[in-house]
Amino acid sequence: LPRSLGEALRLTAARRGEALAIAYYGAEITFADLLGRVERLAAFLQHRCGVRQGDRVLLGMQNSPHFVIGYQAIVRAGAVVVPVNPMNTPDELGYFATDSGARTAIIGAELLDRYASLVPAPLEHLVIATYGDEIPADTPFRLPSVIAESVLPAPLPVGAIAWEEALAESAPPLPDRTEPGDLCVMPYTSGTTGKPKACKHTHASVLHTALLQASWYGYDDDTVLTGFMPMFHVAGMQLSLNGCAAAGASLVIMSRWDRDLVGPLFERYGVTLWSAAPTMVIDVLSGAGLEDKAFARLKIITGGGATMPEAVAAELERRFGLHFIEGYGMTETISPTHLNPLDRPKAQCLGIPVHDTVARVVSPETFDELPRGEVGEIVVAGPQIMQGYWNRPDADAETFLERDRLRFLRTGDLGWVDEDGYFHIIDRLKRMVNVSGYKVWPAECEATLHRHPAIQECCLVSSPDPYRGETVKLFVVRRPGIETSADDIIAWARGVMAAYKVPRRVEFVDHLPRSASNKVDWRSLQAAEWERAK
Ligand code: ATP
Ligand code: MG
Repeated sequence: LPRSLGEALRLTAARRGEALAIAYYGAEITFADLLGRVERLAAFLQHRCGVRQGDRVLLGMQNSPHFVIGYQAIVRAGAVVVPVNPMNTPDELGYFATDSGARTAIIGAELLDRYASLVPAPLEHLVIATYGDEIPADTPFRLPSVIAESVLPAPLPVGAIAWEEALAESAPPLPDRTEPGDLCVMPYTSGTTGKPKACKHTHASVLHTALLQASWYGYDDDTVLTGFMPMFHVAGMQLSLNGCAAAGASLVIMSRWDRDLVGPLFERYGVTLWSAAPTMVIDVLSGAGLEDKAFARLKIITGGGATMPEAVAAELERRFGLHFIEGYGMTETISPTHLNPLDRPKAQCLGIPVHDTVARVVSPETFDELPRGEVGEIVVAGPQIMQGYWNRPDADAETFLERDRLRFLRTGDLGWVDEDGYFHIIDRLKRMVNVSGYKVWPAECEATLHRHPAIQECCLVSSPDPYRGETVKLFVVRRPGIETSADDIIAWARGVMAAYKVPRRVEFVDHLPRSASNKVDWRSLQAAEWERAK
């Protein structure tokens, strides 16, 4: 194995120099070109921003070639990438800068306003990228507004350096002294249960598990990946960004999700692996005018992070003859801990533990391993597990378990193992709705409700109830062209689920709120529900 991500990229560029590394709305970058830019930006970070081995550098951008170059340059400089969600507020950004101790940030120009107040302290340097630079004027691909919005102000504020200027650095970077055990990246958790925490991941872990994932999917020199999932999040980062740089696959990037671009991009670049959130697949399948020939080279559709509804998986199979390959992981695990084998995937299933990974289902109270088939908390040990949270020994103490000389991570997810050794998730321990003492697990009910012909998408939440304490409320996005009513859905639900699980109330909405990683944001719906009742 290469010793670091930097070494992996050098090996990839030596092997595949002139091949396409990144396609971006018609702009195209080769691996040799990618390496050249990474080296120049790394040199700039070292010589002009004073970035040293082990320093943290914020990376705040939309998916773009700049994100990939920024990421690889930070690690090539020996520093640690702190990816931040472009949707974060200035207060949140201030917290990330202070908590991580970063003094330099690489950001998209559209975010300059939000970062400006953080300079000269806690940040000293801002490297500012504009996304549109190399996109040909006559590109056939429709550009998202975020590209138009990313323009440099004149003059630049103090501390800000234009991307072009940073990439004009002529001195070479210092020799790469990175060791496998050095920190590589620290993504923050979403912070629903308190301040977000940064998860420490090493080069060994990032590299080993990115390559492991690449071998699971059989990446070769003809592999063309999508870069549609956010790269600041672990799924987009490992499968796409590092799948390109470390494993040598080509990457087709979109900055903002646009269903109508999927067909044209797949056709032009011959996409072979689509990494998708279930919501993206639903969106594409419900779109009109989709040319099936655009999907001719597509071999694998994979994803994780949320359950793929059964009906959608079935439609996918009917339409393209492809099984959805589900996986399971979290911010605390840089790569999936579970994946479905390509030759025998199961639907609505997390898959089996990947190589070198031990997963168990344990009692959430005693942590003793439960017999196969029983429901308990999933715990995992393996190379993708973080070293721990950044500066949070208190949180580490609650998260890790020592058993049989292995260091297990508590996932906070409830699941079980079937007779073939495949893992299934019920829901998050914290998402349970308690209806007069009866436990309702929303994910299970949603999967059932999804079979109703008029339900395109739905989200089940807890709602306050004076008699039962909590009751079940359902938010529904209707499928266009099919009539339905709240009473109709409730009556239908009575026929397919136990009475205490049946929604008491149904509310129709145009769309469901989404988190940055494209999951349905049930927490905000549920919080609003409780807020309204106050
Ligand atoms: P926070 O930790 O702040 O609550 P989060 O857990 O949603 O946010 P992530 O680390 O991105 O943030 O998500 C990991 C979680 O996603 C897992 O713990 C699990 O609940 C869920 N998940 C991951 N893969 C799947 C899957 N295949 N099916 C269902 N749920 C999944
Ligand atoms: Mg979590």
